[in-house]
Amino acid sequence: MSEKANEVRVLKTEAEWRAQLNDLEYKVLRQAATEPPHVGEYTDTKTVGVYRCKACGTELFRSETKFDSHCGWPSFYAPLAEDRVVYNTDHLLGYPRTEVRCATCDSHLGHVFEGEGYGTPTDQRYCINSIALDLEPAES
Ligand SMILES: [Zn+2]
Repeated sequence: MSEKANEVRVLKTEAEWRAQLNDLEYKVLRQAATEPPHVGEYTDTKTVGVYRCKACGTELFRSETKFDSHCGWPSFYAPLAEDRVVYNTDHLLGYPRTEVRCATCDSHLGHVFEGEGYGTPTDQRYCINSIALDLEPAES
């Protein structure tokens, strides 16, 4: 996990993003807002599949790495691949947190926390806004 220069591959103007996304999606993905806890569509979802970026469709997380954190947001212990996301330190709450953004379109996804003792393989919690994701269920 390291911060690196972001090579954004999907570039849109703010007007284009506003036209594509609804108000809450825009606030979260483009203005780094956080959706309220326990209300997101995918908070407790167990469906097997792949979670894509709501803004650009890039595959970001697999259901296999989703776990019950009981924090109120969908939680994953790893991204689908490290090159799918980029990291950025923010101080929006007055202390440093590691923001997770989509590497393809530079949209805000959520934050990642480490060392909380959840007992997952990485001891990380990617706390991701449900509204930033689109679940594509695996074919049964
Ligand atoms: Zn994206």
